Amino acid sequence: MDQYCVIGNPISHSKSPAIHAQYAKQTGQQISYERELAPLDGFAGTIASLVARGVRGANVTMPFKLEAFALSTRRTPRAEAAGAVNTLSFEGAEIIGDNTDGAGLVADIVRNAGVPIRGKRVLMLGAGGAARGALLPLLGEQPRELVLVNRTRATADALARQFADAAAFDGHISPHNVRLCACDFNQLTGQFDIVINATSASMAADLPPVPAVVFGHGTLALDMMYTKDPTVFMQFAAGHGASVRDGLGMLVEQAAEAFFGWRGVRPDTRPILEQMRTAL
Ligand code: NDP
Repeated sequence: MDQYCVIGNPISHSKSPAIHAQYAKQTGQQISYERELAPLDGFAGTIASLVARGVRGANVTMPFKLEAFALSTRRTPRAEAAGAVNTLSFEGAEIIGDNTDGAGLVADIVRNAGVPIRGKRVLMLGAGGAARGALLPLLGEQPRELVLVNRTRATADALARQFADAAAFDGHISPHNVRLCACDFNQLTGQFDIVINATSASMAADLPPVPAVVFGHGTLALDMMYTKDPTVFMQFAAGHGASVRDGLGMLVEQAAEAFFGWRGVRPDTRPILEQMRTAL
């Protein structure tokens, strides 16, 4: 039976084993998928022992996504663009690093929420790892405009500069069709079609300083965090007319993308998303 795992610290909270067990059952794939607690200073050693045990692949969560990137001997373009890796495949001497977070976000918006991104005005709040991971897949959908705002403005500026350079991504995006820019929260004007909260503010029950004007009827507001109850961001956006969504769909979809990369079979995510929602 092929073995996979999710590595993090802490790891006991991870929903990935439950999600992958359901995907394996649904698709008839014979795999095992476990949690792997890596010491904070021992990620590389944990990977070496997994490879020695014949493990085929691993998902990587906090705080090891940057170390997984550094350890990868080959990386997909979306991992390269994200500067972080959440999915590893062990193939002989190669450690192949991928990043499925952004593809998961896009799948959740386009397929699950039924909101096309092409030609839309998109606002991204935050410029940390999750935002960076989402940018290439988002740009690949060809929105009309993608605006980045971050509490620390310089980080958003740097991201906008990095992603405006199409040459860096082997032509995977053609940014000439997309207006990509960074600004301050207080410079935001007009309603957006899609607003993504990729800040970690919701984890502290904080609201990023986003003006209400960006929301309206017809706006999809998505918080990458997921909880049983709507986050303060979701409540604020809904109060100003937006339809809202949390990050559970993104989580389930990024796992499906990893599963597809490993097994070559794409699971049906809808029943799993419903199950995970009920179990929250
Ligand atoms: P990082 O620590 O890398 O980045 C945090 C970002 O949030 C930074 O841009 C930071 O701004 C900003 N920020 C933090 N607090 C505030 C605040 N009070 N007001 C405004 N901005 C704030 O975190 P990640 O990018 O890894 O994660 C971000 C969120 O995405 C988390 O909630 C995480 O749970 C979620 N996530 C969900 C996934 C899913 O599958 N659903 C997958 C990955 C992440 P500054 O630069 O100024 O510090």
